[in-house]
Amino acid sequence: MSKPTPTKSEEILLNTETPYDDKRISCHMREIIRLVGEDPGREGLRKTPERFEKALKFLTSGYNQNVDNVLNGATFSVAYDEMVVVKDIEFFSLCEHHVLPFFGKAHVAYLPTNKVLGLSKIARLVNMFARRLQIQERMTSQIAKAIEEKIAPQGVGVIIEARHLCMQMRGVEKQHGSAVTSAMLGAFRHNKQTRDEFLALVGGKNR
Ligand SMILES: [Zn+2]
Repeated sequence: MSKPTPTKSEEILLNTETPYDDKRISCHMREIIRLVGEDPGREGLRKTPERFEKALKFLTSGYNQNVDNVLNGATFSVAYDEMVVVKDIEFFSLCEHHVLPFFGKAHVAYLPTNKVLGLSKIARLVNMFARRLQIQERMTSQIAKAIEEKIAPQGVGVIIEARHLCMQMRGVEKQHGSAVTSAMLGAFRHNKQTRDEFLALVGGKNR
């Protein structure tokens, strides 16, 4: 049996895995291991640079995505004007100042005008922005603005609660290594009733 000819997209995938591109991060990581005083040739560390590269590429895979390919056309016209809330979206991100994890939960809500998003797409949107070098404040507003741009709702609210290992592990603010950020647009900013409804649904205090 002859091998199937790879399709164009398979070819592109194969081409991105060139040895050059693939080894670049791991080569630097091997040097970093040396610089912190370890022996990169020690048994337990021998494959660490490659593992690190693989992990880092996954944790920053949001750079290879954009709002349009994440939503993939999943916006629907409906006659629905009640609040849509997706609570407790788990995310893991990397702080851009220390490249250490910050992670927690995002709560996203919007008040549709005449369009809604596929519910699973909201979690994917959160993950796309999380899998980059981030600060929590920017990530919060990026999620809100992306939704505003794509479906022009009456308003959007995003609240993110996260723990920052760069604070907790380094002993800075050990007790208070968590932060809450919010972005309120449109009705969520101007209409107290809308904002309070959102806050009550996600169990938040009035902020
Ligand atoms: Zn940090």
